Amino acid sequence: MAKRDYYEILGLSRSATEVEIKRAYRRLAMQYHPDRNPDDPAAEQRFKEINEAYEVLRDPQKRAAYDQFGHQAFEAGAGSGHGAAGGFDFSSFADAFEDLFADFMGGRRRSASNRGADLRYNITITLEEAFAGKRAQIRVPTAVACEACGGRGSEGGAEPAPCATCRGIGRVRTQQGFFTIERTCPSCHGSGRVIRNPCRECGGSGRVQKEKVLAVNIPPGVEDGTRIRLSGEGEAGVRGGPPGDLYIFVSIAPHWSFHREGRDLYCRVPIPMTTAALGGQVEVPTIEGKRLRIQIPEGTQTGRQIRLKGKGMTELHGGARGDMLVELVVETPVNLTRRQKELLREFEKASGKGDNQHPQSEGFFAKVRELWDELRE
Ligand SMILES: [Zn+2]
Ligand SMILES: [Zn+2]
Repeated sequence: MAKRDYYEILGLSRSATEVEIKRAYRRLAMQYHPDRNPDDPAAEQRFKEINEAYEVLRDPQKRAAYDQFGHQAFEAGAGSGHGAAGGFDFSSFADAFEDLFADFMGGRRRSASNRGADLRYNITITLEEAFAGKRAQIRVPTAVACEACGGRGSEGGAEPAPCATCRGIGRVRTQQGFFTIERTCPSCHGSGRVIRNPCRECGGSGRVQKEKVLAVNIPPGVEDGTRIRLSGEGEAGVRGGPPGDLYIFVSIAPHWSFHREGRDLYCRVPIPMTTAALGGQVEVPTIEGKRLRIQIPEGTQTGRQIRLKGKGMTELHGGARGDMLVELVVETPVNLTRRQKELLREFEKASGKGDNQHPQSEGFFAKVRELWDELRE
């Protein structure tokens, strides 16, 4: 569809004075304003046309260019042409418009729907790192404010003008029967601003994709599932809007030996049958990577717990350390030599009944015999 002549749109002759242009615009803008013509696409189209024409003809420089070159005067030099505004916008017109319609517009504020998105970053650390804390460097692919335009989205960082369609509010209302439906402005997508000359770097969004490198302090004592919020480190806002937040979700990888419960650490330590019977010492690993010698009492059974005070996890906010609980498991020897077997058989012969050397199994089987006897009667 060919573009209509700007003078024709405003019903003016080419020799119209500035005052005549303004008067014609005022009359037509009032007549076709969307608030007065709800749900009328034709009127909306006219309204846009009127604004576009006025935008050019009110400005002596633009008007001269238009008189000489027609619509072509504004088609070249529109940057890379992929701006969000989709060609022409009504930016400076809005100032005039605000004066004209201030009375029935009332005071309205622009909504801040241009806040950047929150981001989630998952990080998995070892239990040792959870104990000691960790300073991690993370790389987050995200949208950052465009440096070329300072996040404004307009070439050279010029201040974007209020959107004419929604008058800078970012939302438009339409009447449907009894209901008034409010929706995001289709012209400015809710930002309330339009960009005349989109920035070449970011195409008018005010943001570019970039990998951001951030240092994150994971505090000692952190728990599995902890969420660390880095305020303002999410995606940059659209066209200078406030940034979102970055949430770091910490998971702790399972440990080969330790099992954590709150600030206590549990570990199962196998001990040789002989050590369990005779007593002795074994070395156990600690969470800080050291070795600790612990005393095994004579006659230790599987399941016996030894509590090592203050050898557990760090407390998140610098409290006392938890304990480490060593659960002993008596290991039955395998792959015995003939000699060892002989010795064990000899050991077996040397142990008599009722000498209370195996109190658990003796008690158990005594109970079983009792039950069998009862059944026989
Ligand atoms: Zn830019
Ligand atoms: Zn708008």
